[in-house]
Amino acid sequence: MHVVRTWGVDIKASKKLTIFPTSRVTGLWLTAFNNAVGVINGFKLAASLEVSSTPPHPETDAGANVQFDLGNGVLKYRAWGKDYTVTEKINDVVSDVKLDPTALHGLTQTLSSAGIVQRAFIFVPATPMTPAQVRVAPGPDGFKNVPRPSGLGVLTFIAAHEMIHALGLTDNEHTVKGAFGDVFTGLPGLIAGAFDKPADDRLRVRDDPRVDMPPLAISKDTRDFVTQAWT
Ligand SMILES: [Zn+2]
Repeated sequence: MHVVRTWGVDIKASKKLTIFPTSRVTGLWLTAFNNAVGVINGFKLAASLEVSSTPPHPETDAGANVQFDLGNGVLKYRAWGKDYTVTEKINDVVSDVKLDPTALHGLTQTLSSAGIVQRAFIFVPATPMTPAQVRVAPGPDGFKNVPRPSGLGVLTFIAAHEMIHALGLTDNEHTVKGAFGDVFTGLPGLIAGAFDKPADDRLRVRDDPRVDMPPLAISKDTRDFVTQAWT
């Protein structure tokens, strides 16, 4: 049984979430953010996203529903006059999440009241890196993996994936890499482009036949879970 997160009645009736990119979201990340919003809306899901220039109000429920921010280390946000730090619980021990700014992952924290989502805060790594092959010596074995900034395709995948979390899906609804792999695949494989071609970086969601993203696609299951969250 999948229990998706659900937003408040008024927001659900609007079939739309407003999303605010913070001032840290610039350059390639801003392009990825805008691309991802376009991709999500192109999927024609049960709800769409609308970019907002108004941040979630720190004291009230005004402003955007969702904030999109870059993360590096401890993740903080403020809502309803209260400061929050994102925590995790491992073996019953609660501690602050420290987001690795170079890893290929993201995190969406939702804030709920009586089981109804009121706000979502998306954090993506500030400087995601892809290890790519560099020739360091002659011959077939003369290569070494050297990290360099990840390409736009990887950033767009991460952004779109987290936006689906903001729409209501939890880690339990992640797609498994394989036959039905899509943009909501939990652990896609990284297919690095050449060192000087980060734009060729891809994320592999299926092995046979191989499907690497972008272009981003969504499975029927993921689409249905979004519908479930918005019905
Ligand atoms: Zn996820």
